[in-house]
Amino acid sequence: MKRVLYPGSFDPLTLGHMNIINQAINLFDEIYIAILENRNKKEGMFTYEERLELIKKIYDNYPQVKVILAKGAAVDVALDHNCQAIIRGLRSLSDFDYEVGMQQINKEISHNKVNTICFFADKEYQFVSSSMVKEVFYLGKDISKYVNPTIEKALVLKRG
Ligand code: ADP
Repeated sequence: MKRVLYPGSFDPLTLGHMNIINQAINLFDEIYIAILENRNKKEGMFTYEERLELIKKIYDNYPQVKVILAKGAAVDVALDHNCQAIIRGLRSLSDFDYEVGMQQINKEISHNKVNTICFFADKEYQFVSSSMVKEVFYLGKDISKYVNPTIEKALVLKRG
């Protein structure tokens, strides 16, 4: 059983994240999407519980995709859930620089038990990020090209 962990903030999940998840679904038996708390980040737009419910709803029909809330180091979450590797998505050189450092630290703190596998964003998602979606949404512009309809509805409800 090949199981991998996809950790992130997912505030909110975008079609870019889903593009990475789709690529991984074709290669692994199970994907654990972990919404990581306590990451020195200010309170997001959606609470952790809201993100969990939204992602669960989107992947309702995919028994091989599990969604969890987790705290602490991604490598510990991976080991706790018997995930053989962490997966991450790469859009640009700046993602690459960050991920090179993260995977090195993750190897060190897990004593080489947890490796990182990177997937490349397909070109239509190369500039999609959660923060870009939030900005474009608050400008009153269409975000349906960047997020699943479930997320779009939740954003509309948030705005009130
Ligand atoms: P983090 O705070 O850990 O970067 P994110 O939710 O922003 O959490 O991203 C989680 C992972 O998904 C990261 O590896 C990030 O590079 C990747 N990612 C985000 N947006 C995209 C996208 N549009 N295409 C591919 N990968 C993406």
